[in-house]
Amino acid sequence: MALVAAALVAMLAPAAFAQAAPGAGPRPLTDALDAPFSPLDLTAVTFGQQGARMTLQVTTAAPWSARQLDTGAGRSICIKLFYGRLGRPRARVCVLARDGAPRLRYTRLDPSGKPVALHRLKATVMRPDSRSLRATFTPASVRLRVGRYAWRAETSWAVPGPCATPGTCTDRAPDNAAVPARIAPSPLPRGCVAHGRTQRRSGPRGSPRVALTFDDGPSRFTPAILRLLKRKHVPATFFVLGKEVRRHRSLLRRMLREGHMIANHTLTHANVAGAGGFARHQISATQSIINRASGFKPCLFRPPYAATSRALTRIVRSLGALSILWDVDPQDWRTPGTAAVSSNVLRNTRPGSIILLHDGGGPRAQTIAALPRIIDTLRRRGLRFVTVADLLHLRLRARRTAA
Ligand code: ZN
Repeated sequence: MALVAAALVAMLAPAAFAQAAPGAGPRPLTDALDAPFSPLDLTAVTFGQQGARMTLQVTTAAPWSARQLDTGAGRSICIKLFYGRLGRPRARVCVLARDGAPRLRYTRLDPSGKPVALHRLKATVMRPDSRSLRATFTPASVRLRVGRYAWRAETSWAVPGPCATPGTCTDRAPDNAAVPARIAPSPLPRGCVAHGRTQRRSGPRGSPRVALTFDDGPSRFTPAILRLLKRKHVPATFFVLGKEVRRHRSLLRRMLREGHMIANHTLTHANVAGAGGFARHQISATQSIINRASGFKPCLFRPPYAATSRALTRIVRSLGALSILWDVDPQDWRTPGTAAVSSNVLRNTRPGSIILLHDGGGPRAQTIAALPRIIDTLRRRGLRFVTVADLLHLRLRARRTAA
């Protein structure tokens, strides 16, 4: 089925992998022909999470067009969502027409089922045939988070004639219940995809986003940094050394779980500007070590000492990565004092900045102590923290989930 194949290779938006899910996708629910005068009599409905997205497929007894649908006039195809297993109503997602094409609308419901607020849903909508509709969207776009929910499909065809008697032309699937379902946590991403200019010092200056990066770890200081970033809800990018990963393997999976990006900083912190076989080995061995420890293949590389060259950049690109430098460097590795680290960062950071810090290579207490002021102050200025992959609009590769 084309939809299954599409989901398996789905690109996960960086923000999505914090809460998306695995599995072969939901199974279709079939429904009896029980509203014979309505073309919208449901015959099959599929709804649920597939990979990082929600998938919806509705098949009706007879053909219909989006132009005929009008929720206010009682001609509708909707999925109603409930809290918990069979709790109170939470929302409904209905099909409507916009310029003749089918679109989805999300309506939040109050506890009695009355509409409270609505918005157009960002979804991919298709009509495989005149009796079917297929759509995908993110769980977050319909306010579904990790945990239980329940759903039911509802159609109505209020037109004069055989449908004039209320209730004659409405259908529900299932008829007298709701289907219990759940949103599972996301599978970890299995890589990112290099794209665009091969060497970067910053991201786009036009949007208020910045990236914190940490080099030379993982080390015994990394867990404290991860704890702090988690408390502040800040994703970061860790340029790790292959030789250090061997001693801290479990930290890499934790980084991915907590929404951070892992990147390559060579095997032994060698100067690899001379390129050639030595550089290639330093980088590719580290790619393998990271991949074995975490299942993730980085697409970002940072040359130690910023020692780079055209030949090195070519090698990096041939290994599927971009060379990432920085535009803010408070020299925290020299331990100049907590205040010096934070004020340097605050003085020099602007939209698009890539900020260089260290979680390894020496005592990192000053870096850790400087982070809260850096994060809080930059946020107050309206800047948002993202990973370098996100800053550069690179895509993540989703993990292939068991079929
Ligand atoms: Zn370094």
